Amino acid sequence: MSNNYIVSARKYRPATFRSVVGQESLTHTLKTAISSGRLAHAYLFCGPRGVGKTTCARIFAKTINCLNPTAEGEACNECELCRAFNEQRSYNITELDAASNNSVDDIRNINEQVRIPPQTGRYRVFIIDEVHMLTTAAFNAFLKTLEEPPEYAIFILATTEKQKVIPTILSRCQIYDFSRITVPDIVKQLQYICEEEHVEAEPAALNVIAQKADGGMRDALSIFDQVTASCEGHITYRSAIENLNVLDYDYYFKLVEAFIAGDVPQALLIYRDIREKGFDSQFFINGLGQHVRDLMVSSTPQTHSLLEMNAEVAQLYVTQAAKVTPRFLYHSIELCNNCDLNYRNATSKQLLVELTLIKMCQIMNPLPQDQPAQQPPAIKKVQPAQAQPVAQAVAQPMAQPMAQPVAQPVAQPVAQPMAQQPQPARYAAPQQQAYQQPQQPAQQRRPVYGTPRPAARIMVNVPSTPADQQTGPAAQQGPTADAAGADPVRQKAFTDQQLNDAWVAYIIAHPHEHVVVNTMRMAYPKRVNDTLCEIEVQNPSQVEFIETVKPQLLAHLRNAVGNDMLALDVKISERGPSARMLTPREVVEEIQKNNPAFTQFIKDYQLGLA
Ligand SMILES: [Zn+2]
Repeated sequence: MSNNYIVSARKYRPATFRSVVGQESLTHTLKTAISSGRLAHAYLFCGPRGVGKTTCARIFAKTINCLNPTAEGEACNECELCRAFNEQRSYNITELDAASNNSVDDIRNINEQVRIPPQTGRYRVFIIDEVHMLTTAAFNAFLKTLEEPPEYAIFILATTEKQKVIPTILSRCQIYDFSRITVPDIVKQLQYICEEEHVEAEPAALNVIAQKADGGMRDALSIFDQVTASCEGHITYRSAIENLNVLDYDYYFKLVEAFIAGDVPQALLIYRDIREKGFDSQFFINGLGQHVRDLMVSSTPQTHSLLEMNAEVAQLYVTQAAKVTPRFLYHSIELCNNCDLNYRNATSKQLLVELTLIKMCQIMNPLPQDQPAQQPPAIKKVQPAQAQPVAQAVAQPMAQPMAQPVAQPVAQPVAQPMAQQPQPARYAAPQQQAYQQPQQPAQQRRPVYGTPRPAARIMVNVPSTPADQQTGPAAQQGPTADAAGADPVRQKAFTDQQLNDAWVAYIIAHPHEHVVVNTMRMAYPKRVNDTLCEIEVQNPSQVEFIETVKPQLLAHLRNAVGNDMLALDVKISERGPSARMLTPREVVEEIQKNNPAFTQFIKDYQLGLA
């Protein structure tokens, strides 16, 4: 990486409406409005992050000021005003990030600037990003300006959360809804960048990056930078999935082959491999659900367009889809979905997943009583209504003790205990008794659950770990307990540990912000002094990831440690990139090693890994 390295998100930021990826109909409408001279005074751009809202706002500001706009309503990018915009020295554009500047004073400052007419060009454009973050007072101060703006003033408000913008503002704006960018659109743009940068990339690798970005071009480019940095000019599918901690789709294809064959042992062994690679079980079951969904849309030509992947990978799906029945597809999706819904409350999450896999093996391989002529393997003689033998069969191949025991809904009560080997209860594990028959309330003690439970449940015996036995006080010492402070400006002293706990809590609370939390997992904060902490990340993309969530993250950290003056510095490490990202479980284990109070904290707040 040379010194003049520019992150792709900046280098390939579109300069015209035409080059904005994946928002064709919206940019077309904007161009038409500009070329016909029908401009509103206020626009609201809504949509997920990283899909081009701010980019379009900047292009819009440039285009309406351009001295020689093209016939299609694009900026010429050559006149003095366009050049000023492109070199970011134009006075006709003012941007306010309301995520960090949301006070009345910030808006008053804007209101004052609105009064100054443009020195060159026709319009002054005010872009207010994350406008929903403005305080109520700031909203009200802004409303007056919005009601009677000067002729030359145009406001473009951008937000990821339209429902949080007050109706009085909404009613004064033309609203444009930006959509997620599709995987093929992102892949196309990445291919273009690869050509420009002389990087070779396998289509499947770009597909993985696009899927990981979840509809955001900015995230896609940041992830692309991250992968490129460690691939030296040649991005393979394998290097991409390793770098991004993505599960190889090959596992899903093999699993479905096992389901087709009714091969329960094979399915359970594949699942064990996946666990041993460090993948979270819920992440896996969701991935499996997505795989079956992709098979479903591959099964008929009419729905091929719903398959968001390149042709080469898509063909694998079409081929496998031809081997399964529609009943298998619908039923499997339902099973994956149920497993996901029950996951958080399951005493044994591993058992829940294994039962799900067993049921999927049975869909295309009817049970003995349905088809007496066949002689399926012993493990398939289990009837779904009788959970006990299934549970025992499942318990055999377990390579590892179950990690996160919780309650596990199953069709029928179970008479005998299973899984009696000691299991490390790591977190989110309410203290439990042995199996309890709902019909025999006199047996043993009552479970510790706060809410009444349905009758048919299995309770798995969980010996308490030392962490479980430290009761009480950690909850009061826990970082979030400080959040209730009513002081206007809190300035508590805090420790590295509190900071770490707050960091982890944020990661756990935002499981879907993959890119950000992956970055956070690799960079734990260090306390520098009473009002400053710092993190070290690996590359400029990761600095950007953190910057995008910094306002929310800081607010969370400040609350957690009870210090409103806390600031966060993001630095790029000189040690170079680490080998790979940690899984959520590894992160938790790492922290628990040095921090018994954390175990208690997670337990007290009933947090779990999603
Ligand atoms: Zn121009």
